[in-house]
Amino acid sequence: MIIGILKEPQDESRVALLPEAVKTLLSWKVSVWVETNAGARAYASDELYKEAGAEIHSRQEILMQSDLLIGIQPITQSEISGLKSGAVLMGQMGALFNPELTGYLIKEKKTAFSMELVPRTTRAQSMDVLSSMATVTGYKAVLMAANLLPRFFPMFMTAAGSITPARVLILGAGVAGLQAIATSRRLGASVFAFDVRQAAKEEVLSLGAKFVDVEGAKEDKGAGGYAVEQSAEYLQKQKDTIHEHALKADIIITTAQIPGRKAPQLVEERTVRAMKPGSVIIDLAASSGGNCALSQPEQTVEVNGVRIVGVGNLAASMPQDASKMYGKNYLNFLKLIIKDGNLNLNFEDDIVTGTCVCHAGNPISPRIIQMQSN
Ligand code: NAD
Repeated sequence: MIIGILKEPQDESRVALLPEAVKTLLSWKVSVWVETNAGARAYASDELYKEAGAEIHSRQEILMQSDLLIGIQPITQSEISGLKSGAVLMGQMGALFNPELTGYLIKEKKTAFSMELVPRTTRAQSMDVLSSMATVTGYKAVLMAANLLPRFFPMFMTAAGSITPARVLILGAGVAGLQAIATSRRLGASVFAFDVRQAAKEEVLSLGAKFVDVEGAKEDKGAGGYAVEQSAEYLQKQKDTIHEHALKADIIITTAQIPGRKAPQLVEERTVRAMKPGSVIIDLAASSGGNCALSQPEQTVEVNGVRIVGVGNLAASMPQDASKMYGKNYLNFLKLIIKDGNLNLNFEDDIVTGTCVCHAGNPISPRIIQMQSN
């Protein structure tokens, strides 16, 4: 069986599997083909892949001859149509939010797995690319904010006077938010965090941050640990509380998302206009509608001296470790579907089923089946 590792599009610097992962794959009695320069932007040269035992091939050869194709960003429809019969395609296709691509995979009777569909269960934790990339994003968001802030993060007592610590407000304490709290604390900031899930409170406190409480949030135990949409009344109460905290903040990092929905707007225009000049807002939800009313995806907007950075694919700004984590998640998943050097798709396994967009054109993941029936 040939496993093909694809080079990502121009705006993506990560690679799905680094040379270190190739060694593990080869021990499973498979061949590994890597597209020319696939790892170059993650500092993994073709030479390193060859030393690890992989073969370097052109994109065309990899697309046409691989039994299992592995990448991160989706490939084009014309590339999908040219895949070898029975080949399995893997990537992070955003299958639930990309009905055109999902519909095409089904129509063309393909077999595809989309890594963002990995169920959020304890057993699947080591395969969860969303968590890995959120860890990178939360860390990098703080460094980005520190770089833009015209002030120090830690407190200083110097002969030139004292410096008070920067005050950071984190909105949404999921994986990215918790990493942003930990990184801000390591840099010495005073950190406040808010989330609608009460379960997040304990985690926030354990990292040495203060929890901002807004009572009356709606929670749903059936939502798999995710947040659910809140009432208009609660959202207003929340915006008012955030407004009060924002006036004192130097940095706001927003991470609040609701799967499949537009991100909740938490920071209003009046709040930005009332903030201290020099403050920085990093909006990690900018590409799904934005947590800040003024953020623009992939752009920095300045209003009254407050800079609002609409962040996109921040994981790609740290390609070496992001690729390492991505590859480890992939290897843990591939262990479930490769047996004795061949593909072995066991649809009795909830992780395999939950992650599979379609098999020979039949929708498999319950979330995809539900999406198709809507
Ligand atoms: P996410 O990226 O979907 O959202 C980020 C955070 O924003 C979440 O904590 C969410 O509660 C919060 N949020 C949503 N609406 C909000 C609002 N109006 N105001 C304030 N905060 C709001 O979340 P995530 O990081 O992917 O994690 C979500 C949950 O899944 C967490 O409980 C996490 O522990 C859990 N999780 C479990 C696994 C696993 O078991 N394999 C893996 C990853 C995450």
